[in-house]
Amino acid sequence: MRLSRYPVPTLKEDPSDAVVASHRLMIRAGLIRKESAGMYAYLPLGLRVLRKIIEIIRDEMDRAGAVEFLMPELTNADLWKESGRWHTMGPEMIRIKDRNGLEYALAPTHEEAFTAMVRSIVSSYRDLPLNAYQINTKFRDEIRPRFGVIRSKEFIMKDAYSFDLDEEGLEKSYQAMRVAYRNIFRRMGLETIPVEADTGTMGGSQSEEFMVPSAIGEEVLLLCEKCGYRANQEKADFRRTFPSAEPPENLKEVSTPNIRTIDELVSFFNCDASKFLKSIIYLADGKPVMAVISGDREINEHKLKRALGASELELAPDHIVEDVTRAPVGFAGPINDFNIRTIFDASIRHISNGITGANKKDVHFAGVTPGRDFTISEEADIALAIDGDACPKCGSSMSTTRGIEVGHIFKLGYKYSMSMNLTVLDKNGKAVHPIMGCYGIGVNRTMATIIEQHHDERGIIWPVSVAPFHVWMVGLGKSEEEIARTDEIYEMLKKAGIEVIYDDRPLSPGFKFGDADMAGCPLRITVGKTYFKEGNIEIKRRGSGEMETCPKEELVEKIKEIIASEFGKY
Ligand SMILES: [Zn+2]
Repeated sequence: MRLSRYPVPTLKEDPSDAVVASHRLMIRAGLIRKESAGMYAYLPLGLRVLRKIIEIIRDEMDRAGAVEFLMPELTNADLWKESGRWHTMGPEMIRIKDRNGLEYALAPTHEEAFTAMVRSIVSSYRDLPLNAYQINTKFRDEIRPRFGVIRSKEFIMKDAYSFDLDEEGLEKSYQAMRVAYRNIFRRMGLETIPVEADTGTMGGSQSEEFMVPSAIGEEVLLLCEKCGYRANQEKADFRRTFPSAEPPENLKEVSTPNIRTIDELVSFFNCDASKFLKSIIYLADGKPVMAVISGDREINEHKLKRALGASELELAPDHIVEDVTRAPVGFAGPINDFNIRTIFDASIRHISNGITGANKKDVHFAGVTPGRDFTISEEADIALAIDGDACPKCGSSMSTTRGIEVGHIFKLGYKYSMSMNLTVLDKNGKAVHPIMGCYGIGVNRTMATIIEQHHDERGIIWPVSVAPFHVWMVGLGKSEEEIARTDEIYEMLKKAGIEVIYDDRPLSPGFKFGDADMAGCPLRITVGKTYFKEGNIEIKRRGSGEMETCPKEELVEKIKEIIASEFGKY
């Protein structure tokens, strides 16, 4: 490829809306251009990288025994209605109507589509296991698209769905994907942290997310250095320590004019936040429920949702809180007669002489003894693990870090095969529901995170496996003869099958070197004065900056050798 015929519009300045390295560099290196908020076009250089990433994913998926399909991106509303998700997917799903008024969704995910497709092609246990995947566009109406292609409205995903006869089969399919995902990210030079994850609304049982550590990550991870426990904060457990019990005092009402928040209570009562029974009213699938946790802890809404078995959970608006507790917001507590479902965090049982709202304006109870003053009707771990909490496995102190999710694998269970009535006949001729797993990788986001991990102040430093070209050749010849001698070298490399792009533009050396560094191909070769005078071509490695020269006759071998050693790193 000649750069004079290949648009790589590099920019000298950072785009004003780019706050992260990958977004900045993808625009400046001429890989992408913004079309509108959350939507990006890929230019030729960017597309080459994207394709290489896709090829690595495809290769590992095929190797793991998965088979490739291609599904429509416009998915029929009937499928979503069958699973029940037409009403639960929320405003992130883009819904449209055709001229006949038929409803569709621009697919944000394809569980329904694949379940329906598999329903139409399998009938016997002999047809299973099947792991069906595709590499296709997804749509999500992001309220706040940001960080370039890391959070966009339209993106490419590899999504796979496994169908097995029983749990043992699912375990095999799941483990094959765990291995494939590790291979995929390693081959791209991307360091990921696999973490235990919440299965959320997908209704599954086991789940692992592949996180790229990053300050801009939207996920918080809890990590134990000692034993290697790693979990998404949504899911993270922690080991608890409880204070020893004190002799119980009598329950008494205390006047607390306008004292509502935990901070205000701590200074009013002059005691530790862990003494308070923080009581919060939520709406779980539209019904009010109360969650009670000690005042030094925050509620993990994912855990609470799971404990309640709710599919939707939100904080109750003030008027509902007032209706339920018959008091202003800030005075709710578990000593009451209002008969709503109440979940107590595991911390509550161990509080002695606690303090809680009395469900009356400006009144709190002190001397609260759980079990005596109220019944612990339902108990669960609904607390958010935080930095410094004890590891649930080994007890050492955990730390937190932020991460970007690039891949997610999980066991879905029977949710879709049951709701959409997918069955096969087993060995005895009995119709059974296959058990499913689901496995995704965000392709564009993976590309961005590779840049987050591989760049310097001059530009991108691509791992060889995903580099747009292996060699960026800079020609500095001016005379017709020099240019002809440079063209010869370019032809020689092309003929040898080397992935080379040739900067043949009539621009200054400084400008050309700047573009080469920005684009970040593993090798830059320069055909300039040292070649025209002494016959030596300069080879520079983008990563280490190491420089060497060699004569034309040895160039192809030398390049092949370096490229092979670069591949050896991943
Ligand atoms: Zn540990």
